[in-house]
Amino acid sequence: MQIDSFIPADKHPYLIAGPCSAETETQVNQTIDELMKCLPQLDLIRAGIWKPRTRPNAFEGVGQVGLTWLKEAATRYGKPCTVEVANKAHVEAALAAGIDVLWIGARSTVSPFIVQEIADVLRGVDIPVMVKNPVNPDIDLWIGSFERLEKAGVTKLAAIHRGFSSYTKTEYRNKPTWELPIELKRRLPNVPIICDPSHICGRRDTLQKVSQKAMDLNFDGLMIESHISPDLAWSDAKQQITPEQLAHLLSQLVYRDNVTLEGEEHASLNELRSKIDRIDNYIIELLAERMGVSEEIGIYKAANNLKIYQPERWAIIVDRCLKIGSANGLTEPFLLKLMQQIHKESIRHQTQVMNRDEEM
Ligand code: PEP
Ligand code: MN
Repeated sequence: MQIDSFIPADKHPYLIAGPCSAETETQVNQTIDELMKCLPQLDLIRAGIWKPRTRPNAFEGVGQVGLTWLKEAATRYGKPCTVEVANKAHVEAALAAGIDVLWIGARSTVSPFIVQEIADVLRGVDIPVMVKNPVNPDIDLWIGSFERLEKAGVTKLAAIHRGFSSYTKTEYRNKPTWELPIELKRRLPNVPIICDPSHICGRRDTLQKVSQKAMDLNFDGLMIESHISPDLAWSDAKQQITPEQLAHLLSQLVYRDNVTLEGEEHASLNELRSKIDRIDNYIIELLAERMGVSEEIGIYKAANNLKIYQPERWAIIVDRCLKIGSANGLTEPFLLKLMQQIHKESIRHQTQVMNRDEEM
């Protein structure tokens, strides 16, 4: 994929802040004045103009008039600004108002129709676009959005990780499921990735922890909602912080160094990494050996007309592994997930063997 980063390489982290929504001209002006006072290094100013609300009758954004408030306030400080767009009309209005960067929200990324409509209207327009992850943890849907935009000639792209919806209530508003943005980075290494702790946390007290985690996981930037009077915000009041609180949060972040793969300067780290590589090889060889045994079991079961899955046997295996694991400092959820994956692969091997025998 042809991706040009619009984020300067030396920007760690690239910082996006601003209110969840533009509410009034005064609120936009006061928030941006205060942001610039507390955070002159701010890279991009955000505000939602059209708000995708889960339920009707909530505040759905001020609409087009807010574009002018945002653009004028940002221009006074020589800063670029960004809004969420969810259809052709939004894009046209944002472009006409001189908005510098667009973003596609989580509820839009789930819809290939919406993403395609936005990509089509951007054909021939040179503007950066940031794509939030879809609300559901579907990495191909997220990647598909970049592909649609890139096919339309939009090459200045970035991803925003804002977490994933779940039915069960957790400590997060949207579960971070960090392995997904990590996998996105592996598959699209040229797309910069920005973390949005505000929508992951849904509350103020965990923003620091999630922002730090994003920095430790090598994210390129942060998008954090900031409002002049968070408690009075018309949307997402619980997760917004004042510009002063945001400056404090950023001052508390620890920025750890990147280690290059070739780096000579960290000899003992390289040694530990070699050890990890050796252990990983060993684990994979052992897993392959285990699957070989599973296939032998499959042959035996087929010959003796026995079912593949024996619940009692599986319960005993899980029980034993959890015991050994916890005695060795491994957590139960990790072990359970690991054993479930191994079991699934083992059943696949046995099924293959049985079906092969049936075909013969
Ligand atoms: C937002 O950034 O205000 C927003 C609506 O985010 P999301 O699309 O992540 O819900
Ligand atoms: Mn919001």
